[in-house]
Amino acid sequence: MRSTKVRWRNWAGNQACVPSEVHEPSSEDELAAVVKLAAGRGERVKMVGSGHSFTGAALTDGHLVRPGRYGSVVRIDRPAGLVTVQAGMTLSALNATLATSGLALPNLGDIAYQTVAGAISTATHGTGERLGNLATQVRGMRLVTGDGSIVECSADEEPEVFKAARVGVGALGLMSTVTLATVPAFDLHVVEEPLRVDAVLEALDDHVSGADHFEFYWVPHTGWALTKTNNRTDRERAPRSRWHSFRDDVLLANLAFGAACRFGRRRPESIPRLTRAIPSTGRVEYVDRSDKVFASPRYVRFYEMEYAVPRAAGAQVVRELRDMVKRRGLLISFPVEVRFVAADDIPLSPSSGRDTCYVAVHMYQGMDHAEYFGAVEDIMDGVGGRPHWGKLHHQTAATLAPRYPGWDEAQAVRRRLDPEGTFANAYTDRVLGRVG
Ligand SMILES: Cc1cc2nc3c(=O)[nH]c(=O)nc-3n(C[C@H](O)[C@H](O)[C@H](O)COP(=O)(O)OP(=O)(O)OC[C@H]3O[C@@H](n4cnc5c(N)ncnc54)[C@H](O)[C@@H]3O)c2cc1C
Repeated sequence: MRSTKVRWRNWAGNQACVPSEVHEPSSEDELAAVVKLAAGRGERVKMVGSGHSFTGAALTDGHLVRPGRYGSVVRIDRPAGLVTVQAGMTLSALNATLATSGLALPNLGDIAYQTVAGAISTATHGTGERLGNLATQVRGMRLVTGDGSIVECSADEEPEVFKAARVGVGALGLMSTVTLATVPAFDLHVVEEPLRVDAVLEALDDHVSGADHFEFYWVPHTGWALTKTNNRTDRERAPRSRWHSFRDDVLLANLAFGAACRFGRRRPESIPRLTRAIPSTGRVEYVDRSDKVFASPRYVRFYEMEYAVPRAAGAQVVRELRDMVKRRGLLISFPVEVRFVAADDIPLSPSSGRDTCYVAVHMYQGMDHAEYFGAVEDIMDGVGGRPHWGKLHHQTAATLAPRYPGWDEAQAVRRRLDPEGTFANAYTDRVLGRVG
C-alpha cells in the first residue's frame, strides 16, 4: 500500500515531516521491497513505531514505513520462553498475547503504546537495578539492510551485528522480526507512598537494592518524593477496584493533573501551589499482573528530556537539579522521574558498561522548556550523562562518541549494514554522524 504527501506527527506534537511516500507493508518481502525501491533511487527510508519519541528519530522526507499491518506474533516457543514478533507489534498487544500463554516480559517502561522495534531501537527501559533495558531481552532479529537484503542475527549468528543492532536508533538496519526472551507470568506487590526526598536520597541504595523495581518522582517546589516499590509476589491477587484504578490513573494522574497543568500554563505563578497538592495522594498498596502494574494510560501531553548517568552519581544529580530549579526560580509542574537500570553490553545503549540511574524532566506541552532543559543538560554533561535516544537533547556525534566505549564498534556495523545512509535522517546525521 502506497500513498504520497501525508503529514506525519509524533505523539508530543513537537516533530513533524512530510514524507515523499508512505508505505504499509504486511510482509517481510514487502518491507524489503520498499528499501530496494528507495535504495535504487538513492532515497532514504524510515520505519516509524508509535511516534512516542520526542526527538526527530522517526522523521523522514523520503519513504515512511508505517507499522500498522506488520504487527503479528510469528511464533511462541513456550518451553524456551521465546516469542518472535513482527517489528510493528505494540507492547500492549504483545503483553496481552503473552499473558494468554502464561508468559510476560520481565520489565517494562511506564507505557505500552510503543512498537517492539521502536521501543528497543531507543533502549526503552523500566526500573530495577537487576534488570537491563528492553533491548537486553532480544535474542534474535531479522534485519533489512540498506540495500534491501536480509541479515539474520543472534548471539551465535552474526554476533557483531546482533550486539550492536539491538539499539540502532533506526540507523543500524530495519528490524523485520524480533525474538525476545520472556519469563513465566508474575504478579507484583505495589507500594506507592510519598516520602521526604532528602530521606530517599540519603538511603537511595537501600531503596534500590531492596526491591525488584524501585523508582521515585521528586515533586518540584516541595520536599516530597512519590516513591513506587514493586516486588514479585505469590500473594493472592488484590488489584485496585475499577473505581480506584480509574480515580488514580485517569482522574488524578491524567484529568486532574492535566487541568492543573493547563491552569499552570496560563498562570505560572500558581505552579508551586498546585504541585504542593500532589503528595497528598497518600499510601497505596495492591497486587496485580505485572504488565498492568508497569504501564498506565497517558493523556496529558508533554515534552521530555531523560539522561542516563552512572548509578553512583544519581543522588548527587537530583540534589543539583533541585538546587538549580530553586536558584533560577523556575516554575515546574511535572515531577522529576528517577529510575534504575542494570549495565549491559550493547554499544549504543545509554546503560552500556555501567549500572545506570535515569533522571527525566518534563514540561507541559506548549510551555517553554529551553532554560529548564538546558540547565538540566549542563548538570548531566558534568557526569558524562548519555541521553535517551527518544527524548530531547542537544548532543552531537562529537560530544557523544567519547561517552560510549563501544561507539566505533556500532559505527563499523552501521557502515556495513547501511553504507549509503538509506536509513539516515537529520537526527541520526546529528547524533551518530553521516554515512554514505
Ligand atoms: C508518554 C510516554 C512515556 C514514555 N515512557 C518511557 C519509559 O517508561 N521508558 C523509556 O525508556 N522510554 C519511554 N518513552 C520513550 C519511548 O519509549 C521511546 O521513544 C520509544 O522509542 C518509542 O517507541 P515508538 O514505537 O513510538 O517508536 P518511534 O518513536 O516511532 O521510533 C523510535 C525509533 O525507532 C525506529 N524504528 C521503528 N521501527 C523500526 C524498525 N522496524 N527497525 C528499525 N528501527 C525502527 C524509528 O525509526 C525511530 O528511530 C516514553 C514516551 C512517551 C511519549
